[in-house]
Amino acid sequence: MNKKTVTDVDFNGKKAFVRVDFNVPLSSKDPNATITVTDDTRIQAALPTLNYILDHGGALILASHLGRPKTADDRQFAMGPVARKLEEVTGRKVHYIPEVMSDAVKAAAAALQPGDILLLENTRFHPGEKKNDPQLSADFASLADVYVDDAFGSAHRPDASVDGAAYAMRAKGGPVVAGFLMNSEISALGVAVENPPRPYVAIMGGAKISDKIKLIENLLDKADKILIGGGMANTFLKAQGHKLGKSLVEEEALAEAKRLLEISGDRLILPVDVVVADEVSPEAASEVEMVWAISPAKMALDIGPASLERFNAELQGAQLVVWNGPMGVFEVPQFANGTNQLAQILANMVDHGAKVIIGGGDSAAAVRKAGLTEKMTHVSTGGGASLELLEGRQLPGVVALDEK
Ligand code: ADP
Ligand code: MG
Repeated sequence: MNKKTVTDVDFNGKKAFVRVDFNVPLSSKDPNATITVTDDTRIQAALPTLNYILDHGGALILASHLGRPKTADDRQFAMGPVARKLEEVTGRKVHYIPEVMSDAVKAAAAALQPGDILLLENTRFHPGEKKNDPQLSADFASLADVYVDDAFGSAHRPDASVDGAAYAMRAKGGPVVAGFLMNSEISALGVAVENPPRPYVAIMGGAKISDKIKLIENLLDKADKILIGGGMANTFLKAQGHKLGKSLVEEEALAEAKRLLEISGDRLILPVDVVVADEVSPEAASEVEMVWAISPAKMALDIGPASLERFNAELQGAQLVVWNGPMGVFEVPQFANGTNQLAQILANMVDHGAKVIIGGGDSAAAVRKAGLTEKMTHVSTGGGASLELLEGRQLPGVVALDEK
C-alpha cells in the first residue's frame, strides 16, 4: 500500500475536492432545534490535511456524509452545525451550500480563491451517493483539480464521493491522493497485512464470532498466535465442551468455532478463568470461576486474572500486536478489568519497542476510556474499515488512490 499523499501534489492555485469524515455527534435529533456538534474530534483530525492544502495555496471543496439520513428531507442531518464548528476550528469563513450537487454548488466552486473553503451538503442527501452514480461522481470531479481522500472510516464503502469521484478525477487527468489521516491509517494497518514483524500476536474479543469469522481466519493465516477473550470466547469454550451457564453463546456459530479450533492447532489461546455475575449491571456481585466450573445461573462477562496472566505470558517478546474487541463488558466497571489491564500491558510493550495497533469502534473507545490512546502505536479511527482491511480485503477508497 504505497499510495501518493497530499505531499506529492502542488496545490498552488488549485482546487482540491477533499472527502473528509465529518460524521460527528450532534446535540439533537430535532430538526427544529438549534443543533450543535458535541464532539469535534473528527474535524480536528482532518485539520493537518486541510491546513496543508490551504497553506500551499489551494482552495477546499469538502464533502462528507453525516449520520444515516433516508432522504434530503431528514434536515436534522444537514451540515449547517458542521460548517459553524469548522469556522470556529479553522478561524476561517466557510461557504456552506445546503445542496450536494447543483448549479449553485458548481458556481460556488468556480468562484473559489486560494485559501477559501466550500462545504457541500451531507453526501447521503443525494440518491446518487450510495449508488456510486457516475453522473454525480463526474460532477464532484468537475468541481476541482485534485481529489483527496482523508475519510478512512468510509474507505470500505463504494460511494460516489469515495470511489466514483476518485476515478472520475483520474479520468480527467487529476491526481488522486491520500490525506494525512488516511495515510497514517493505511501505513499502520498495512504493516499488519503486508509484512508483519514477528512474533506477531493478534488479540480478539467483543460480543460475537459471527461478525468476525473472516477476520479470525485471516489473522490465523498471518499471526503467530491469537488470544481470544470477550463474549466470542464463550462460543469457542462451548465448542470445546465447557458449560457456559447463562453466558452469551452463539449456538449457530458452534460448528464454525469447532472448525477454527481444528485448523488453528495450538495457536488459538482461550481464557482459563472468567469473571461471572447473575446480570449485566453495575450492582451485580461478581466472582471469578474457572472455565470448566461455570455456575449454571451465571454469565461470563470478563476474562479472569489467570487468563490475563496467560495472555501476558504469550505477549512477551511480541514485536507486533493487533487488538480488536474488548475482553469483557467494559461499559460496566466491574467487567472492565480484563480490558483495562490488557490495555496497560500493551502500553508497556510499546515502551519496550513493540508495535501495538488497535482496530474496531468499541476497542478504540475502551482504550480511550482507559486513558491509553496516546500510548499505543496506532488506534484506528475507522471501525468497519479497519476490520475489513485486517480481513485482507481491498477497500475501494484505498484501491482508488494513485500508486507512488
Ligand atoms: P469492536 O467495535 O471493537 O469491533 P465489538 O463491537 O465486536 O468490538 O464488541 C464490543 C462489545 O462486546 C461491547 O459492547 C462489549 O460489552 C461486548 N462484550 C464483550 N465481552 C462480552 C461478554 N462476555 N458478554 C457479552 N458482551 C460482551
Ligand atoms: Mg462494535
